[in-house]
Amino acid sequence: MQRRGLLIILSSPSGAGKSTLAKRLRAWDPTIRFSVSATTRAPRPGEVDGREYHFVSEAEFKRMVRDGEMLEHAHVFGNFYGSPVAPVQGAIEAGADVLFDIDWQGAQQIQKSALANHVLSIFLLPPSIIELRRRLVSRGQDAPEVIARRMQRSWDEISHWDAYSYVLINDDLDRTEDKLRTIVAAERLKATQQPGLIDHVRSLQTEFEDLS
Ligand code: ADP
Ligand code: 5GP
Repeated sequence: MQRRGLLIILSSPSGAGKSTLAKRLRAWDPTIRFSVSATTRAPRPGEVDGREYHFVSEAEFKRMVRDGEMLEHAHVFGNFYGSPVAPVQGAIEAGADVLFDIDWQGAQQIQKSALANHVLSIFLLPPSIIELRRRLVSRGQDAPEVIARRMQRSWDEISHWDAYSYVLINDDLDRTEDKLRTIVAAERLKATQQPGLIDHVRSLQTEFEDLS
């Protein structure tokens, strides 16, 4: 039976494990599409334009917002980030799930949008703040001052944990991945995600009436 796509939102303070778990979830189910955000920040080593992000100028970003091309957008760590709406619409119509690695501001905007009924929101907490800093440092992709800025902002992000439907403490990576898979599998079965149910129930009714 055809199903409707979910908008799977993953948020957390920087370094808690969003992109690692997003990759694992998509390796588990390659039909899950990733919402490639547009950003004005510079690419990190290894990041590819169009894969992790669309790296755009501030002028181009502002144009996209002005022309209504963003589902949501926010200013984070001194840079602009936003989710282009067109690929999301295409995926949902095709019955595919879309995964968003976005902050609490973006999550809030999508939860207020016309697509709110199809949102699955998940927040990742680190086991401790010391471990959060250790992960940011061990990732080895940001300069010390960037790490300090991300750490400073981590409490702001954590303070929005209770606006999410699911909250996972990402201590053991395999265990967290397992929980994520369980959540996604269950949410796909919600009645709101199964547009074909009405027709099925109607056919059951017809059959029921024919037999009685
Ligand atoms: P985010 O996308 O939230 O900024 P990342 O996924 O880049 O975070 O993770 C930050 C670092 O922490 C990476 O080096 C990643 O391999 C590591 N990491 C993620 N989850 C765990 C975990 N459960 N245990 C140990 N290290 C982890
Ligand atoms: P990073 O620079 O580490 O890739 O991302 C910094 C923060 O911006 C992360 O919390 C990430 O989830 C968030 N982010 C990335 N893309 C978007 C987006 O399109 N919209 C919003 N609101 N936040 C985003």
